[in-house]
Amino acid sequence: MTKERMEQLREQIDEINFKILDLMNERGYLAKEIGVLKKAQGINRYDPVRERKMLDRLIQHNDGPFDNGTIEHIFKEIFKASLELQEIDDHKTLLVSRENKNENTVVRVKGVRIGDEQPQFIFGPCSVESYEQTRAVAKRMKEKGLKLFRGGAFKPRTSPYDFQGLGWEGLKILKEIGEEFNLAIVSEIVHPSHIEKALEYVDVIQIGARNMQNFELLKEAGRVKKPVLLKRGMSATIEEFMLAAEYIVSKGNEEIILCERGIRTYERATRNTLDITSVPILKKETHLPVIVDVTHSTGRRDLLLPASKAALAIGADGIMAEVHPDPAVALSDARQQMDLDQFDSFFEQLISNERN
Ligand code: PEP
Ligand code: MN
Repeated sequence: MTKERMEQLREQIDEINFKILDLMNERGYLAKEIGVLKKAQGINRYDPVRERKMLDRLIQHNDGPFDNGTIEHIFKEIFKASLELQEIDDHKTLLVSRENKNENTVVRVKGVRIGDEQPQFIFGPCSVESYEQTRAVAKRMKEKGLKLFRGGAFKPRTSPYDFQGLGWEGLKILKEIGEEFNLAIVSEIVHPSHIEKALEYVDVIQIGARNMQNFELLKEAGRVKKPVLLKRGMSATIEEFMLAAEYIVSKGNEEIILCERGIRTYERATRNTLDITSVPILKKETHLPVIVDVTHSTGRRDLLLPASKAALAIGADGIMAEVHPDPAVALSDARQQMDLDQFDSFFEQLISNERN
C-alpha cells in the first residue's frame, strides 16, 4: 500500500517536473523576445527594479510550504538564466561571429591570401630606423620569396623618452622599399586622423595592442577599404578582442586579421604569456584569420621557433616576427629581434617542419 502510494506520488512529481520545464521554456522565449525589444530601444537588459517588483509579488502570493527566502533564491536563479539567454542571443548576432557568417574570411594583400589554406608570414624590423636598415631586411625577405613586410613608423612606447619612430618619414621609407621589392607593407597607425593619409603608404593598417580599445581609431579603420591587422590588447579578454574587431566590421570593413601577441600575466619567464588556445577559440568563434606574433608574446629569441610551430600546429593562419640587421643596436626591442642569419635558420626550420 505504502509502496503504491509512493509510486503514485512520484508519478505526480514527474508530471509536475515536465510542467515546470515547459513553463520555464515558455518563460525563456518571452524573455528572449523582451531582450530583442530592449536592444532595439537601447535599454539596458538588466532591470533590478523590475526584478524587485516580481520578487515582492511572488512573496505576497507565497502560501508555502517553501519559505520566502527559498522562493526568492529559486526565482533569482530563473531571472539570471533568462538574462544569460538574452546575452547568448546578442553574441550570435555579432558580425565577426561564425554564427553570422560560416565561411572563412580570406584577407587578400598583394596576391597573398591570409586565412586560406597556406600559412603566411609577416616579418620585418620592430621600427623603421633608416632606409639602409629597412632595406637590408626587405632584401633578405625577397630572397625567400616572402611578401608581407612589417615595420613601425609610429611607435607607441611605454616611456616618452624612448624612440618614438620616424613617423611619416618612416612610412615613406617603407613605401619606397615596398615598391622596390614588390612587398606589401604592414605598419601601425596610432591616430584616427592619420588613417586616411596612411592609405597612400601602407597595404595593411596595424592597430597595436595598446590601441586595441582606442574606439575612435577602430571606427576610422572601419570606414576605409584597407585590410587591418588588429592586435590583442595586453590585458584584453578574447571577448573584448572580438568586440574590438566588431567595431571595425560594424563600420563596413571586414578585412581584418586578428593577431594574438601574448597577454600580461604574473609569469616573468617570457615578456608576455602566449595564449595559444586563443587561436582555435577565435577561429571557432569568428570567421576572421588569426595569426600569432611570436616576438612580442615571448620576447625571447630562443622561443620564436617552438612558439611558431605550436601556433601553426594549433591552427594559426600565419606568423609575425621581428628581424633587424643588427639587433644589438636596434632603437626598440633590441633583445628580441632576430638578426639576418638567425632569420635564415629560423625560417628554414619552420618551413621544413611545415613540409614534414
Ligand atoms: C609591434 O608589432 O610593433 C608592436 C608594438 O606590438 P604590440 O602592439 O603587440 O605590442
Ligand atoms: Mn617590437
